[in-house]
Amino acid sequence: MLITSEAWVERQLRMKKNIYMGGQLVGRDHPLIVPGRNVIAMTYDMAQDPKYKGICTTTSHLDGSEINRWCNLHMSVEDLLTKQKSTRCGIHNCGFCMQRCMGNDGLNTLSVISKELDEKYNTDYHKRFQEYLKYFQKNDITSALAQTDVKGDRLKRPAEQDDPDMYVHVVKKTKDGIVVRGAKCHITMGVYADEVIVLPTRVMREEEKDYAVAFAIPTDTDGLYFLNRASAPRERKHFKAPLAEYGSSDAVTIFDDVFVPWERVFMCGEYQEAGRMALLFANYHRHAYCGCKPGVTDVIMGFTELVAEYSGIERTQHVRHDLADLIAVAELIYAAGIASSVNAVKSSSGVMIPDPVYSNVGRRLAGENIYHEHNVLVAVAGGLPATLPFEDEFFNEKTAPFLKKYLARKKGVSAEDIHRCFRSIGDLSCSGFGSVWQIAGVHGGGSPIMETIAILANYNLKEKAEIAKYLAGIERTGPDKSEVFPGEKKNLETFKEHLRIYKK
Ligand SMILES: Cc1cc2nc3c(=O)[nH]c(=O)nc-3n(C[C@H](O)[C@H](O)[C@H](O)COP(=O)(O)OP(=O)(O)OC[C@H]3O[C@@H](n4cnc5c(N)ncnc54)[C@H](O)[C@@H]3O)c2cc1C
Repeated sequence: MLITSEAWVERQLRMKKNIYMGGQLVGRDHPLIVPGRNVIAMTYDMAQDPKYKGICTTTSHLDGSEINRWCNLHMSVEDLLTKQKSTRCGIHNCGFCMQRCMGNDGLNTLSVISKELDEKYNTDYHKRFQEYLKYFQKNDITSALAQTDVKGDRLKRPAEQDDPDMYVHVVKKTKDGIVVRGAKCHITMGVYADEVIVLPTRVMREEEKDYAVAFAIPTDTDGLYFLNRASAPRERKHFKAPLAEYGSSDAVTIFDDVFVPWERVFMCGEYQEAGRMALLFANYHRHAYCGCKPGVTDVIMGFTELVAEYSGIERTQHVRHDLADLIAVAELIYAAGIASSVNAVKSSSGVMIPDPVYSNVGRRLAGENIYHEHNVLVAVAGGLPATLPFEDEFFNEKTAPFLKKYLARKKGVSAEDIHRCFRSIGDLSCSGFGSVWQIAGVHGGGSPIMETIAILANYNLKEKAEIAKYLAGIERTGPDKSEVFPGEKKNLETFKEHLRIYKK
């Protein structure tokens, strides 16, 4: 089912208060929360817009009903490819992270792992998950995803921490459910999501089986608190602009002995699979980044091209080279996402798993380039995004004529458009809001070092050494073959079919 953004906001406003901000217990109508909520409302609006039919919407594999793309499981390569497109389009509309991918990545992870757990341990997690998915799709649910534990001393494992609550864990089991305690950090959109899906953050050992827990609960469940930090561009008084309507919220999320009924528990104690669940979520989320990050670069690139044009330097060679850098970053990351999608393998639950080497190299490239991209933008823009007078000075009758005269650039470009362009660049590269998204560009979805580890874990370097041995005339000891693609080998016909779907 598809609901309207208005119906979704109404549902949000009916939730119990459990958000702390600025020393106060606040409601979901707090003005600092609204810009972030607008991003999610936008995803509901896009699903209603005929222009995005089939991109922001799809058909449920459960009952054939029309659903939001973010309530979908990836049942095909086409689903993975369209997820990338949908994310990139979303970012073009709001200007930065459109946030909703995380809950969807969590759903796909739960589907795959719950099935594998049932196969291995004869549990009934997958049945529970299927019921949850029906509820999710029927009610057009938005979910946050809480994986990153607060973690305490980074060099100590969960069971070695002085305080056992540094990782979310089960403290009690009853016939009706479990009680969990701990805290997750940086949780985006928790304060404007219907639900939060909670997953383990790392590999667990037997003595850490209470930490091997996955579940989903409404965001106003008793004992759940969000200590929230909201960020958004400075409010525009006069020159309203779409970019300034959107924002985000990230929260330290406290689980203060939260009760979770069994029907919402999807892993409980199967420590052997906690690492696989954590890494699979990371893989889905890094695949999501391969659609998201090119969208962010499109925005940076767009402002770089625009400001160069307004300043009259758009044909200058160094500016063209800088723009070529941005194109290369955006499209290589997007291409990694395509490669990850077309090399996906089907899990036993039927859900497709993107190729982890390609999703991780794409995400790593994104993390390593984010500050370079902003460097390009500010190098081309000059210093004005940092020093632009406040909006009021453009409307004060004494100062407005000065600014109109002295901020003029290329002939034919209005003072208002110059002002709008520089103010937006300031929002992106020189504001609290912009800095949050630069740091998200490095760490969101896992810091580059995490991708490096994942790449090395999934890549067959020994096979490369066999190629070298052959070329050097050294006797080979490994298999007499080389992989064309790091992922599952597919025949050419399958590969062509995937390309055909993608080009559609
Ligand atoms: C804006 C934003 C939004 C986010 N949204 C979400 C969200 O919605 N849900 C979610 O679950 N997470 C979210 N994250 C969390 C993100 O995934 C983490 O920031 C990331 O995984 C890094 O974890 P950390 O911040 O705890 O840093 P740390 O883990 O403390 O890492 C900092 C540094 O310490 C190093 N380090 C850490 N542990 C070790 C070790 N054992 N040995 C050696 N070196 C180590 C790392 O390599 C890194 O260089 C978000 C992050 C940001 C910035």
